This record gives sequence, structure tokens and C-alpha cells, in this order.
Amino acid sequence: MIDSKDFVKIMDIPFLNKTKKDALNHYIFPRLNKQQKCFIVTGNPEIVMKTREDPTYKQIVLSADYVIPDGAGILLAAKHIKEPIPERVSGLDVMMDLLSFAEVQGLRCFFLGAKDYVNEKAVLEAERKYPNLKIAGHHHGYFELEDPAIVKKVKDSNPDIIFVALGLPRQEEWISKHIDEFSKGLFMGVGGSFDVLAGNVKRAPDWIIKLNLEWLYRLIKQPYRFKRIIKVFEFIFRFYLKK
Ligand code: UDP
Repeated sequence: MIDSKDFVKIMDIPFLNKTKKDALNHYIFPRLNKQQKCFIVTGNPEIVMKTREDPTYKQIVLSADYVIPDGAGILLAAKHIKEPIPERVSGLDVMMDLLSFAEVQGLRCFFLGAKDYVNEKAVLEAERKYPNLKIAGHHHGYFELEDPAIVKKVKDSNPDIIFVALGLPRQEEWISKHIDEFSKGLFMGVGGSFDVLAGNVKRAPDWIIKLNLEWLYRLIKQPYRFKRIIKVFEFIFRFYLKK
């Protein structure tokens, strides 16, 4: 069970204050083993800023079981309030560890989101990396959130883990809208992770990740992300201004 010292609140959002290993071994895997439903938000400064602008989205994020700290800005903010988070927990890394766990445990994974060809490539790559992985199904991410055919397809495939890559806020909105229709399943918003898994977007080299500068690498590689980076700076600015 989660208790107040297990998370740190950044602008009202409770981030899981654990290493990736602890988050998986003590929180996420046990829920999967018990087939307990679970909603994971990959939390970064953009998500926090969005919760400030959109109260409905804030309620959705607050309804998640775990918000994992994926973003250098979140770590900076936690350090600033003297409740340091041990490490950044990247959504992509958690997704890969979940795939590996699913392969060993025989859990069924559904891949929902990204462009059609990216979605297909991501599934092929997951099968290549984890040959015994059970793919429950997959579908691209360009549909209406209410589309009953999509949720039926996911449900009928009897998945244990549903990776939802629709970008924010759509992925969390889809999960929140439909999670009650499922009797089990770990639901996780994974943003652009299928693009990386598919090999369409390259991840930063390890040394850049270790320096917490992955955001800068992404900005240089994908300059159209500029607006999002502004959100990160807005987050840091507001956070420091408040303190
Ligand atoms: N995406 C999607 N449907 C949409 C919008 C986005 O499937 O309606 C996918 C997009 O193709 C990409 C992923 O969502 O694979 C993440 O998008 P984005 O780069 O906007 O999110 P971030 O990485 O910033 O979370």
C-alpha cells in the first residue's frame, strides 16, 4: 500500500518517490501478479503544467495509482523542496521492463497508439526483443476517444498490460474514460515510446541521459518540440517563483 512518505507532491501532483527498481518490484509487479487494475501516469513538467490549465485533466491524473517522475524538471523541483527523488524513472524504461516481465510471466500486452506504421513496427520490434512475448493486439492511435470499436477490440483481446501512446492529454483521457469497463489490466500512458521502440526516433546517448539532458537532445533533434520545452521552463519558473 502506498503511504504519504512514498510520494512527493509537486504542484499538487503526487510523484512516486522511488527508484525504478523499487517502483517495479514493490508497487507495479505485485499489482500485476494479483491482477489488480492499475493506472500509471508518466509524469513530467508538461503534464504538471497541463493539470494547472485543465481541472478535468488534473482530476484524471490524480485518479492514477502511480505518477512516475519522468523529467529532469520534476527532480529539480523535488530537490528544491528538500524532498529529493532518487532518480528519474523514464516511461520508456518502465515500458521495456514491463515487456520483459510480461514475457517471463506470460502476460498479454496490447499496444494502442502512434501512427499505423509506427505501431506495427513497434510491435514487431517488441516481438524481436522479447520472442516469447504474448501480443494481445495492437491498434494505431488516430481515432475518436469515445470510439466503442477500439475499446471493444482492446477488451476482447483479454490484455494484462495496455500501453497507450496517444500523447498527452489524450492517453490519460482514454484510460480514465474506459478503465472501469475492464476487470483487470495495467494501463500506462507512454507518450512517444512506440516511436523510440520502432526505431523512428533515436533516444539520447546514455551519457546525455545520465546528465539529465535528454530534453535538450530531443529539442535539438526535433526542433518542432520547442513549444513543449517552453512548458518545461514555465514549470521551473513558476515553481521557483512560488517557493
Ligand atoms: N499520437 C496518437 N494519436 C494522436 C496524437 C498522438 O497516436 O491523436 C501519438 C503520436 O503518433 C506519437 C505519440 O502519440 O507516437 C506521442 O505523441 P507526442 O510526441 O505528441 O507525445 P510526447 O512524446 O510528447 O508525450
